[in-house]
Amino acid sequence: MATRSDEPDEERPVRLGVFGGTFDPPHIGHVSLTRELRESGALDEILWIPVAVPPHKPASPRTSPELRMEMVRAAIEGCAHQSASEIEIQREGPSYTVDTLRALHSERPDATPVLIMGSDQFAELAEWHEAEEVVRLADVCVLPRGGVEPASVRPRLSVVWCAADVAPIDVSSSGVRKRVREGRPYRHLVPEAVAEVIEREGLYVE
Ligand code: ATP
Repeated sequence: MATRSDEPDEERPVRLGVFGGTFDPPHIGHVSLTRELRESGALDEILWIPVAVPPHKPASPRTSPELRMEMVRAAIEGCAHQSASEIEIQREGPSYTVDTLRALHSERPDATPVLIMGSDQFAELAEWHEAEEVVRLADVCVLPRGGVEPASVRPRLSVVWCAADVAPIDVSSSGVRKRVREGRPYRHLVPEAVAEVIEREGLYVE
């Protein structure tokens, strides 16, 4: 009799979700959507990778890598099969996904990497550094975002991708930062443990 197991099938590679971002701060959109991808069985594991210096917005983030990493760890506390990696934070220079995927291929030969990204990022994927190599090294799982359904995006390169079967969540880190700055309620938009770091460090107040 076939049984449903929480453990990956030993016969097939682990589907490793690779979730890169600034995470300044991580919010309930990030957390709920990745939990759903994991718990639905679409992905076996999820690795959150905060960027050091995003190639497309070098002036940001203003929050230190260490604090963003602390917030990511707080956000995924207790989430089974989810973890965070310092691989980009420890690397010198801009955080190119292609370098991260090359490193993952040698560290995790058991895994097929699946890049998780919002439809906003997917629309720009063709402009990423060594984009062809990125999509040779990884599949892509696209989250609906900002009213843009993944299926409506033309990726402009040949990529194995799928639309995540999840409902959109209209939250952004910039929206959270703006609310903090304006003194408006924001705690409902981030995990409690993340709000505690924001308060303790006085983040985003100006
Ligand atoms: P900012 O508002 O500062 O641009 P952000 O909310 O987009 O930040 P990031 O850390 O840059 O957060 O996002 C990491 C990844 O998560 C990106 O691929 C982004 O598209 C995706 N993402 C973030 N928020 C959502 C959301 N609410 N729904 C779907 N995808 C999201």
